[in-house]
Amino acid sequence: MDEPGKIRDAAAFVASQGGEVVAVCSAASGTTDNLMGISGLIRKGDGKGARAAADGIMRYTRELAEGAVSVEEDRERLSAALDGALAELNGLIDGMALLGEVTPRSSDYLLSFGERLSSEILASAISERDRKAEALAGNEAGIVTDSNFGGARPLMDTTGLRVSKKIGGLLLEGVIPVVGGFVGADQYGRITTLGRGGTDYTATTVGASIKADEIWLMSDMDGLMTANPRVVGGARVLDEVSYAEAVEMAMFGAKQIHPRTFEPLMGTRIPMRIRSAVNTGNPGTLVTASPGPESGRTIKCVSALRHNALIDIRGGGMVGEAGTAAGIFSTLAGAGVNVMMISQNPSESSITVVIKKSDMDRAVDALEIGLAGKVIKKLEVTPDVAIVALIGSGMRGTVGIASRVFGAAASKGLNVVMITQGSSELNLAFVVGDDDCWEAVRALHDEFGLGAPGGRAAG
Ligand code: ASP
Ligand code: MG
Repeated sequence: MDEPGKIRDAAAFVASQGGEVVAVCSAASGTTDNLMGISGLIRKGDGKGARAAADGIMRYTRELAEGAVSVEEDRERLSAALDGALAELNGLIDGMALLGEVTPRSSDYLLSFGERLSSEILASAISERDRKAEALAGNEAGIVTDSNFGGARPLMDTTGLRVSKKIGGLLLEGVIPVVGGFVGADQYGRITTLGRGGTDYTATTVGASIKADEIWLMSDMDGLMTANPRVVGGARVLDEVSYAEAVEMAMFGAKQIHPRTFEPLMGTRIPMRIRSAVNTGNPGTLVTASPGPESGRTIKCVSALRHNALIDIRGGGMVGEAGTAAGIFSTLAGAGVNVMMISQNPSESSITVVIKKSDMDRAVDALEIGLAGKVIKKLEVTPDVAIVALIGSGMRGTVGIASRVFGAAASKGLNVVMITQGSSELNLAFVVGDDDCWEAVRALHDEFGLGAPGGRAAG
């Protein structure tokens, strides 16, 4: 379906909901990437290119508006709202191009336009279906964040008060608030963004603030899956998972979900559904504070994170020496390297870390410059590895999971190079060669019967 058709469908779906409903929307597809492209052009000093790219966004936005809204009166009102926003966007790009400079703050202001434009279009498309609707940017809705531009976090106390007042007021008047996701403002009123995919995070922030009965995350995903369906034939949608499991799944694989999405829900009992925006008859996956016993599979899903590197750091001087790990991790942190997985054997003669392959050279340089010849004798680097993770709260206290996991890997002749399990026992992860990763995922999906519906094949 074309993009305006998708907006019309979304508007019809929202308008058809009984009771009080708040819509939180993302930018039109490709817009945030295009806005980032404009930042890139300005950085390179290509002001002309930036303005041309801005013209492209404006044209596209007007096309969407025309295709999504047909009642003349709504169209006119929308067109006036878009004119205002687009003039502001143009002014901003001119200013940034003139300075030839992109700061985290100006970048967030620029990126915020994607959701500002899309929320206006969606609100108009809802209005023409005989429901009152009003577009609000995230900051207008009351989302107050810290000043960490590019990855801001809502300050929940202030945000809760402001959002419930603003959104609650509109609901009382029978208006459907259409909030642009991803965007907030800090305490000084400066526009911030919550990080890529942040609309999910906005939705749970708004939902927790107004104490919603339910939150639905609707996208092109049918729900959370037992494995990546592109590589595992029998992968299926999970009926129900806990918040804690969903957090793990968001980090591993279900990349479309912002990792902080579940944070605002933690102290609440608001159920969330992850469901399809296209296939609206499909109930998707229910995410709750405490899922029912029928969903009590030992393992819920298996996924893989590819394109990583493993560094094994060795040295006799590390044994029994306090501060070795601190030295290693602060050196890596100083080089801006994020550590994804860690293990140290009890003999203390080696510490192994897994990092993104793209960080590998920086990590090795930093460790060699900072620590070689002191605590570290030797660094051994394996450049192409994947992390395979099994997620499920039923692993906690269940005996025999590890033997089944590694038995399944061994039966395929796969070499496991590192293993971790936190004491929460929510996630068991191991490392294999990058090329072996999908075979490992398939073997585990089979071993734990994850393709079979219901809780039958629980381990
Ligand atoms: N538009 C933002 C992005 O593309 C936020 C979102 O889509 O959730 O990352
Ligand atoms: Mg408005």
